[in-house]
Amino acid sequence: MKIGIVGGGQLGRMLALAGHPLGMRFVFLDPAPDACASALGEHLRADYADRDHLRLLGEAADVLTFEFENAPAESIAFLSQFAPVYPPAGALHTARDRWLEKSLFTELQVPTPAHATIDSQEELEAAVTRLGLPAVLKTRQLGYDGKGQKVLRTAAEVTGTFAELGSVPCLLEAFVPFQGEVSLLAVRGRDGECRFYPLVDNTHREGILRLSVVSEAHPLQSLAEQYASRVLERLDYVGVLAFEFFEVDGGLMANEIAPRVHNSGHWTIEGAECSQFENHLRAVAGLPLGSTALVGVTAMINFIGDLPDLAALAAIPGCHPHFYDKAPKPGRKVGHATVRATDRATLQQLIAQVEALTG
Ligand code: AMP
Repeated sequence: MKIGIVGGGQLGRMLALAGHPLGMRFVFLDPAPDACASALGEHLRADYADRDHLRLLGEAADVLTFEFENAPAESIAFLSQFAPVYPPAGALHTARDRWLEKSLFTELQVPTPAHATIDSQEELEAAVTRLGLPAVLKTRQLGYDGKGQKVLRTAAEVTGTFAELGSVPCLLEAFVPFQGEVSLLAVRGRDGECRFYPLVDNTHREGILRLSVVSEAHPLQSLAEQYASRVLERLDYVGVLAFEFFEVDGGLMANEIAPRVHNSGHWTIEGAECSQFENHLRAVAGLPLGSTALVGVTAMINFIGDLPDLAALAAIPGCHPHFYDKAPKPGRKVGHATVRATDRATLQQLIAQVEALTG
């Protein structure tokens, strides 16, 4: 079976690494000449709106999916004439617009921060009066890793901020004084079967995920699964869907969803029976889903900007390095390591050993 993937970054690379043992082959569409998935399949180098290359991708593939959800909606519609596209276009449409996403949470009674849409500086000022400060202004689309957003703490910081974010449609959110950030990786098959991985505790710095630690018996697991099930059903979802939640006063508030495999699920390669990558492929290919059960206590440390020494990582027992073959650049995700142990104390030691090797 040949899988066509829109995007050819590290998520595409890890999807292909999971799919090759299943006999799958891959074709990627990505404008970057050095797209790091290209070592694992055919690389169509073109813009995401290029009809000729979209056609080549569609004609080559038995099924189509995404590792980059921000391709133009017209491209997704165009691709669907050639082969089935999963996740469905409607899910991508909702998940890439913070306003539609939060409206869906509200409609499904999934708690989410108070928010307002903003189309001008005047609307921003009126919304700040209603929601109060601090608050977070975010572009509705194309934000990632803390980009396209600004925390507003004082009235002075509100002045001129709409223009600072590019005078594009935005969302203002009440600032949530959360106790922690957790994510849930969910997968839904073509037949509607849903499976969930254990909740993950995430630590961010400068808006970028740094550390994910898997929580084997999190008290909020079943609540998170209930919320996720509502969203999966409503979107008639197929594939992996990542949920990011704030932990607030013993409950959960949904921050956002990502309609693809997710950085906070990389630990599943070594830490679960079937990884998020294999399960995404199983789902889109119409295969039975794999087990999401844990095979140890696991954490993932991201390498941002540059990589630690491979020999030093390889010398740590229980450490599994993943280098993405990407050029070093400040703020860029260039690799990660998963550490796996049989108990929490050893896991903490392994995390500390890996973190000591990062800058
Ligand atoms: P996002 O791009 O929405 O995932 O936001 C990036 C990070 O900013 C989150 O992981 C949080 O740490 C922080 N953040 C986003 N929205 C809020 C909020 N409403 N209140 C407090 N912190 C937030």
